[in-house]
Amino acid sequence: MGWKTASSLRQRSTVQFTIIARLLKLCDIVHEGTHAIDMRERYGYDFLKSHWSWEKRAFFYERQFQISMGVELEYETVDEMLVHIWGSYDNELYNPYKN
Ligand SMILES: [Zn+2]
Repeated sequence: MGWKTASSLRQRSTVQFTIIARLLKLCDIVHEGTHAIDMRERYGYDFLKSHWSWEKRAFFYERQFQISMGVELEYETVDEMLVHIWGSYDNELYNPYKN
């Protein structure tokens, strides 16, 4: 299934579009859910982790979800995924537990 380009979406039926849209939302839920589970399990609580560490975990599980669903991967390789993370997030320590 392709969902990257608008033209690939236009070629699909409304039902397929709806399914793809729902899977996209599910991918977001997997990503954000990983952050939520990590916080619940106090990931990086005793020893702070960087944004890169947090995002690597969330993007990894999001990618595993895409693999298990058999949909097109947002990042074809783990290396591509890492390049995205390195370019999109700083490598500062992240403390979501303060406040
Ligand atoms: Zn994230």
